[in-house]
Amino acid sequence: MPERPYVIDELISAKTIAARIEDLSREIAEEFAGTDKLIVVGLLRGSFVFIADLVRELDLPIEVDFMEASSYGDGMESTREVRILKDLRGAIEGRDVLVVEDIVDTGYTLKHVSGLLNARKPARMKTIALLNKQARREVDFNADWVGFEIPDEFVVGYGIDFAQRNRDLPYIGTVRFT
Ligand code: 5GP
Ligand code: MG
Repeated sequence: MPERPYVIDELISAKTIAARIEDLSREIAEEFAGTDKLIVVGLLRGSFVFIADLVRELDLPIEVDFMEASSYGDGMESTREVRILKDLRGAIEGRDVLVVEDIVDTGYTLKHVSGLLNARKPARMKTIALLNKQARREVDFNADWVGFEIPDEFVVGYGIDFAQRNRDLPYIGTVRFT
């Protein structure tokens, strides 16, 4: 639970997110057209709302799996040290894989997870992030698809938390302490 009082200012509306996901789904379906071996991998916990909306728009036969990597803990800064807290249930060798992340910030998390999964020899692996904070990047990594470019501000909502709160907001907003 957050320790200081704050308000949330809307940054991206639920409607805008839904429209963007329709476009992204079309692009992803084109990229993976004809596949019957796609596994969509959600990075817990922040991507759970995004992956739920994305797979329901995606016109492809898919499987869903999840991984959890350590990140911010309850703070507002990246630890830069990525640990795998929960691994995939299934094997991905020879499969098509789409990794779904909420935010690419310093880039450490997605770079580490991509390297790890690539070592398992998938047929093809792509990454998608709902949000990208390009100004914060510290390592050379970019997702194949990005929903929205956002400024260097701490965001919540649509699955994304502040000290575990606010994941249930239907929109994305910035945290402002009062
Ligand atoms: P990285 O710095 O490794 O790219 O990102 C680490 C993790 O920090 C991401 O998985 C993302 O979930 C989280 N993160 C980055 N920016 C924010 C933010 O503004 N709010 C919240 N709640 N998490 C963030
Ligand atoms: Mg995360």
